[in-house]
Amino acid sequence: MKFGGTSVGSAQRMKDVSKLITSSGEPTFVVLSAMSGTTNSLVEISDYLYKKNPEGANNIINKLEQKYIKHINELYATEEYREMTAKFLREEFEYLRSFTKILFTSFEEKVILAQGEIISTNMVTNYLKECGIKACLLSALDFVRTDKNAEPDFNYIREHAKIQLEANPGYQIYITQGFICRNAYGEVDNLLRGGSDYTACLIGAALQTEEIQIWTDIDGMHNNDPRIVQNTKPVRQLYFEEAAELAYFGAKILHPTCIQPAKFAGVPVRLLNTMDPTAPGTIINNEMEHGTIKAVAAKDGITCIQIQSSRMLLAHGFLRKVFEIFESYKTSIDMVCTSEVGVSLTIDNTSHLTDILDELKQYGTVSVEKDMVIICVVGDLSTENVGFETLACEALKQIPVRMISYGGSNHNISYLVSKDDKQRTLQALSDTLFKD
Ligand code: ASP
Ligand code: MG
Repeated sequence: MKFGGTSVGSAQRMKDVSKLITSSGEPTFVVLSAMSGTTNSLVEISDYLYKKNPEGANNIINKLEQKYIKHINELYATEEYREMTAKFLREEFEYLRSFTKILFTSFEEKVILAQGEIISTNMVTNYLKECGIKACLLSALDFVRTDKNAEPDFNYIREHAKIQLEANPGYQIYITQGFICRNAYGEVDNLLRGGSDYTACLIGAALQTEEIQIWTDIDGMHNNDPRIVQNTKPVRQLYFEEAAELAYFGAKILHPTCIQPAKFAGVPVRLLNTMDPTAPGTIINNEMEHGTIKAVAAKDGITCIQIQSSRMLLAHGFLRKVFEIFESYKTSIDMVCTSEVGVSLTIDNTSHLTDILDELKQYGTVSVEKDMVIICVVGDLSTENVGFETLACEALKQIPVRMISYGGSNHNISYLVSKDDKQRTLQALSDTLFKD
């Protein structure tokens, strides 16, 4: 069971989470994020330290410490546990202050960023112990690792998670930190922002748990963005590939790469709502439901680049030259459409845009459109299926569509539209595809 920052965001929430994780009475592995806002504060502290402003850092540290003192006063009923946790917090905050006196590099930053999860897991473990539950805190730094490519080292995780469990037998609840890990060199590192989902999926896959539950504060994945579209509904079941496409193309509920380990291990992932624990949520598993469109998602901040050249006509190797330019600037491409005399593609990372455009001009006439949005329709879109592509395109008959990509996978059609058309595109798709 993984709980995100909002789900452990106050003393009361931590109590609610404790109730949820103990209610089944079965042995449960729990992954926690830092309390909401904490990782952002730790990033801010690091920013001040990079800028050699210890006073700025200390101000944030002091504010954060005040908040935590309040939380522990509310969380614990006994003086013993309150004092024990207060002592732990005092040491934590002294540790954070110690960074204001030393040379600050990215190594120190990663150690600082790790403290949010270390604090939240200690608080909840102490609370469970105070309630008389057999709870064991395992340090993710002892068994979650990345390899030399900064990707999770799954074999290491599987082996060492088992070693940790065997060394600590007989507990009802095992708790560990999301997000944090060690890298191939043994240094403290992390799985990037929002990485706690990833930790949970890695551990669930490594231990072959019955399922992986990701607890957030909404009722599963919706069939469209509920913030901008009316009448969205939760999707009850998704195939792993469908969930991966939705997560990558904008559904904020899940970290995009995190479901891969669960998919390979065949462990279902269930998205659940801490505010409404009995709601069914969304289950993601290896079953592909045929003949349905599941959901629509949008990815903002897309830049479209078109390269047109008569030299492309009947030539080979043109696309390779174009793609190599993007590769050399470590810029990944999302959508591609080609014709005999041109290619259009999209990127979301524009940090090297000027250099990329400069190099592309050797090969043709280049034009750029910014502020575009990829709208992605996900479901059973295999090529044998008839009707769904037509239906989606029919929904967009009033919208100036810049690119369409279909056939890349069996689960997706993507449309590129201008940001100004995002809302009406999403609404039109919902009205046509999910009208009951
Ligand atoms: N605490 C980390 C973050 O805010 C990891 C997570 O919450 O998943 O990014
Ligand atoms: Mg999160």
